[in-house]
Amino acid sequence: MEVDSNVYQTLLESTKAIPWKIDWKSMRFSYIGPQIQDLLGWSADSWIGVEDWANRMHPDDRDRVVNFCVAQSQNGVDHEADYRALTSNGSYVWIRDVVHVKRNGSGEVESLVGFMFDITERKQNEEQLLALQKELETLSFRDGLTGVANRRMFDAVFSKEWTAAQHSGEPLSLVLLDIDFFKQYNDRYGHIRGDDCLKRVAQALDGAGKRPHDFFARYGGEEFVMVLPQTDAAAARQMAERCRILVLSERIAHEDAVGSKVLSISLGAGTITPGSSDAPDTFFHLVDQRLYAAKMQGRNRVVFTDAVAQP
Ligand code: GH3
Ligand code: MG
Ligand code: MG
Repeated sequence: MEVDSNVYQTLLESTKAIPWKIDWKSMRFSYIGPQIQDLLGWSADSWIGVEDWANRMHPDDRDRVVNFCVAQSQNGVDHEADYRALTSNGSYVWIRDVVHVKRNGSGEVESLVGFMFDITERKQNEEQLLALQKELETLSFRDGLTGVANRRMFDAVFSKEWTAAQHSGEPLSLVLLDIDFFKQYNDRYGHIRGDDCLKRVAQALDGAGKRPHDFFARYGGEEFVMVLPQTDAAAARQMAERCRILVLSERIAHEDAVGSKVLSISLGAGTITPGSSDAPDTFFHLVDQRLYAAKMQGRNRVVFTDAVAQP
């Protein structure tokens, strides 16, 4: 069946994709769809040679795209490239150019024919996706309830600071703390108020560390942790005591707390100048035992140990 060339013409010029053809020898456009003007603002007859195409490309994309397309065309390989095309008003539109290499009977490249697609929307979606991914990354280092750093972040920070302390020979301190009688708090006031209470405690303590590398995280449940680099035993003890007072001064009513009727925390603290044979887990466990001792000794207190590095 013979198809009237007008049909092709109509098809080519009504599609949203913009067709074009470049003569390989002269490197000049022998055709470009008039729709190009709607998309980029430049009239069809202003597209004379490949240099117009290259010049109307974002400078950051130009070398990569031109080199790639020239190499592929020389090798006679069909290809596609994404780039930002300059509009006549100075903005950019994301284009996907899909290129077919046409050869003559003896196999030499004769012309390039292709379609330009407007992929701005797709690129915007991709960018949004990337931004979301970034946000997710930061979210996954934050505790969903309290907004402070989470256990995962703690693991990374503690490990990094441990190695740093091993190299610098400076003391590293750790404070572990746990809310007292929190099961009874939930039982009396309900889980929603229990959650609010966790948020208040986290907020009260998050800014407690004053040095730039002081770090605070929710370790899990109603347990929190503080990493204090370059902090000696006396300073760590002070910090732990400060945390205890900070929570008390929130004056969170707790009718079922034994004694004061106000929400309190117990803390274990320790300081180490880690040597090469020390293990962070062993030190953490030691501090955790101090926290347990604080509970056993009546809660609402700090128990401190100064771990000595093994030679
Ligand atoms: P102790 O003084 O010995 O620490 O006693 P406790 O009751 O605080 O400790 P226990 O380990 O017996 O109970 C901890 C409670 O913390 C139980 C659990 O339901 C509650 N809890 C842990 N995570 C959350 C949370 O995300 N939200 C709420 N509302 N409660 C939590
Ligand atoms: Mg606990
Ligand atoms: Mg507790």
